[in-house]
This record gives sequence, structure tokens and C-alpha cells, in this order.
Amino acid sequence: PVDSVALRIARTAAQRPQHRALLHNDDVLTYAELDALMDRIAAALQRDGIEPTGRIAICATNSNPYAAVYLGALRAGVAVAPLPPSAAPAALAAMLADSGARHLFVDSGTAASFAELPAGVRRIALDDAAAGAEPLSGWLAPEGAKPAPVQPLAGWPFNVIYSSGTTGTPKGIVQPFGMRAAQLQGGSSTLTAYGPDSVTLLSTPLYSNTTLVSFFSTMGNGGTTVFMGKFDVAQYLALAERHRMTHTMLVPAQYQRLMAYPDFDKFDLSSTQVKQCTSAPFRAELKAEVLRRWPGRLIESYGMTEGGGVCILECDRYPDKLHTVGKPAPKHQILLLDDEGRPARPGEQGEIVGRSGAMMTGYLNLPEKTAEAVWFDEHGNRYIRTGDVGRFDADGFLQLVDRKKDMIISGGFNIYPSDIEAEVRKHPDVADVSVVGVVSERWGETPVAFVVLRDGAACDAATLLGWANERLGKMQRLADVRLIDELPRSAIGKVLKRELRDAYDGQIA
Ligand code: ATP
Ligand code: MG
Repeated sequence: PVDSVALRIARTAAQRPQHRALLHNDDVLTYAELDALMDRIAAALQRDGIEPTGRIAICATNSNPYAAVYLGALRAGVAVAPLPPSAAPAALAAMLADSGARHLFVDSGTAASFAELPAGVRRIALDDAAAGAEPLSGWLAPEGAKPAPVQPLAGWPFNVIYSSGTTGTPKGIVQPFGMRAAQLQGGSSTLTAYGPDSVTLLSTPLYSNTTLVSFFSTMGNGGTTVFMGKFDVAQYLALAERHRMTHTMLVPAQYQRLMAYPDFDKFDLSSTQVKQCTSAPFRAELKAEVLRRWPGRLIESYGMTEGGGVCILECDRYPDKLHTVGKPAPKHQILLLDDEGRPARPGEQGEIVGRSGAMMTGYLNLPEKTAEAVWFDEHGNRYIRTGDVGRFDADGFLQLVDRKKDMIISGGFNIYPSDIEAEVRKHPDVADVSVVGVVSERWGETPVAFVVLRDGAACDAATLLGWANERLGKMQRLADVRLIDELPRSAIGKVLKRELRDAYDGQIA
């Protein structure tokens, strides 16, 4: 059995019943209230015949009832599949069917996305207002209900997180109870130091692993989680100040917007102890600016939902390593593989593979994809392939090169979009850039840049193309530059390169 987050919450409820657990606008749940609600949820699932290792799905925006249902299911040993509200109805239907869940929790914002549900799926409304769904209040077991105790085993599924779909169709990543327990104890937990007096402001959605790591760390250590609606810079800062936020998890695009906000320095953020960051490339200059202007530690982690290799960069401690993602976290082993899938020679770059006590069981219903995602060393140890290319510097810090799937093969040469992006970003008029490979008859593939200009910049695409190509290596030269208003990004700030590639309609020789 593992010391699950649900058990830890029961302990906090016994020790500090009136301590605030969840906060969302005016909705406050103390630990005693949360614990009682989790009991009613777990008991209702047991009443409905959902066995431990069974599954429920939740598709909603962050709220206290959402969090309570998640935690209540875990108390019954039932796994949760949190689905992204922004996904199209067809994609959601596919994820729901894949998850095998017979209970679906929605809110008024998402109910309509499931208009045609397969028979046998029960729809429950978290905010009691969602049309076509039964209200949560009616579904819950009666007040004071106690579920039959369940002690989850390490290998039981804890949740199924659908991958961001950055590089393809989302895959259901099955994370076991043991993986979450290991995350609470190992990885970055000693550095992030969540404790009973932590106040964590979460602005990213609960269906992403990034958010969940921070959420479970807060709740498992008896802290307070503050939710907010859609991310809004002014509201975020006001909440951080009002609640004396100690911890937060933000993605690089959010740091970017916060730093660009004219009134940022007017807010009192002195209560901040730890700011975390993960999910996407975080520019060194931006990290440096955050360090300068925002009190408290800045800890970046590199990793993936599948688990395996996690790297941690204590930005405040290593100001000269901001161009890296740091060193492997405690109890994590990371190797680089060459193109033949053998360990790369020291100093060489290669595909990052990682191993730890916190790894997925596999992709749900995708045994072939699971087999592709793992790599075994000569002792038979299982590693997870990240699909990212990196290199270690002389001090053992990992520098990311790019995603393997985004690599452009042009005229037989491997070109990394990130190298080209770094060059284009040096132009004073460029606010943001993403480079993708498009099909070229002559080269196979060739790089094209999508550029967002700074406000008031007058530069045109042709000038930028000429400027960039004077500076780029011969093989890196851009075939085209397109100006756009905004880069398409996922809800957790990843640039959706697939969308850019699909949208490109230019003619390339
Ligand atoms: P999919 O697997 O569906 O394509 P995804 O890989 O984006 O989606 P996640 O597991 O959320 O889904 O993200 C992991 C990836 O995010 C890593 O493989 C890496 O490319 C990127 N990433 C994570 N942390 C960082 C970081 N600190 N810096 C740069 N990139 C990061
Ligand atoms: Mg991935």
C-alpha cells in the first residue's frame, strides 16, 4: 500500500480541521469539509459499483468541487481521467471512450461538448447548473457517509492523463499510485518545500500534469490551494497579494505576460517562497528578469507526463546556467542516446531517456506506442524515451536542443528549429517566433518562420527574411517568413507547431 494523497488529507483534517484546503472566489472548503466531501464521493462511487482500479472522467474548469471529486475518487482507489475542456467534442468522445469511464463529471461550460454520449455513461454536474446532467448534490452519498476503506497498491492506476498532443494524437498516460507517491517524496520536493502553511496559487488547468504535481504536493502536505478562472495577469497578481501566496506553478508564456504587465512591480509579492516552471522552453533572459523582479526562489523542472527523467534547475542558485534545465533530480537517471539508440559518447548530444521511481505504467490501450516509448539498458533497466534532444555541459547541466519530432531534415542535414528561432529573436522588432519544417521538393523539408512582431514594429516579412538569412548558416536559411498576431499555444503554453505546419499554404520550390 502507498501513502496516498487521500490518506494524507484525512490526517490533516484530523489535526487541523479548520485549516483552509481549497479556495476559489468566495467558495472555501476547510480540511474537515473537504475530507467529509471526499468520503461522500468515495461512498457514492462504491454504491454505484465502481471497483478500485476503475475509472471516472472529469471535464470541467478548475473549481473546488472538481478538486474534491478528484480526491474523493482516489480515496475509493478509483482512477481519474481529467479531460481538457478546450478539446473538440469528437476528441473528447474519443478520450472518454478510451478511458473506459462510466461516470463523467461536467460543468455548465463543458456539458454541451458531450451532447451525444454513449449509452451507459452517467453525467454529473459539478456546478449543479449544467443542462442534461444530474446535480452533484443529488448524486453524493448522504452527509456523514463513510466509504469502505481502500488501501491502494503502488501499481494501481491513479490517473490517466491525456498527453498534450503537441506532437500527435493525445495518448492516455497511465500514472500509478506509486508514481504520485514518489513525486510527493522525491524529485524536486525537497527544493520546493511545500508544507502545511503553503498557499499555492494555481492558474493552469487540472488536467495537465504540470498543475497536478503542484496541486498534489500542496494537498499532500496540508497546504491551501487557491484556484482562479482563466488566467488573467491583473487578477493573478491581485490574488497572489491578497492570499499571501507562497507557491505557484506557471508556464513560460505566463511569466512572459507577467513581466510585460506595466503594473507588475506595484504588487506586494514578498510572501512568495517558490515559483515553479515547466512544460516548454523558458528563455534564459526571461528567467533572469523573473529573478530580478520577483522575490523568492525560481525552480524550473524539465520532464514529461510519462515520467522517467526529471531535471531541476535552481535558477537563483545557478544564475550562469539559465540556458540549461539543470541537473537530474534526486533518484532520477538520465542518459543520452545516439541515432542508433546506443548511449551517446560523453559530450555528444542525443535523445534524452530517463528512469526513476516515478514512471507511467504505459499508454492506455496502446501497447505498441508503449513499447516505442521505452528503452532498456544492458542490465534490463527500463527507461522512458523523451523524444527530446539534449546535451550535458562540462558541469553536468542538461541543455535542451529541441524535440526530435520538430527536427527538420533538409538536404540530408539535421536542422533544429530552436537554433533558428534563437537567431531570429535577436531582431529588435521580433516578439515571438516559431520555426517549422515544410515540404520542399528540392530539399525534402525546409524551414519557415512564423513571427509575432512587437507592438508598433514596422518591419515587414521580406525584410525580416533577408535579415535572418544573412545571419543563419547556409543549411538553416529560411524559405519564408510569415507574420502572425499570436502563436497558437495549448492551454499550458506549448506552441502547437503542428497547427503552424498545417496552416502553411505557401509554395516552396
Ligand atoms: P505529446 O507527447 O502529446 O506530443 P507533450 O510532449 O507536449 O505532448 P507533456 O508530457 O506535457 O506533453 O510535455 C513534455 C514535453 O514538454 C517534454 O518532452 C519537453 O519537450 C517539453 N518540456 C517540459 N519541460 C520543459 C522545460 N523545462 N523546458 C523545455 N521544454 C520542456
Ligand atoms: Mg510527449
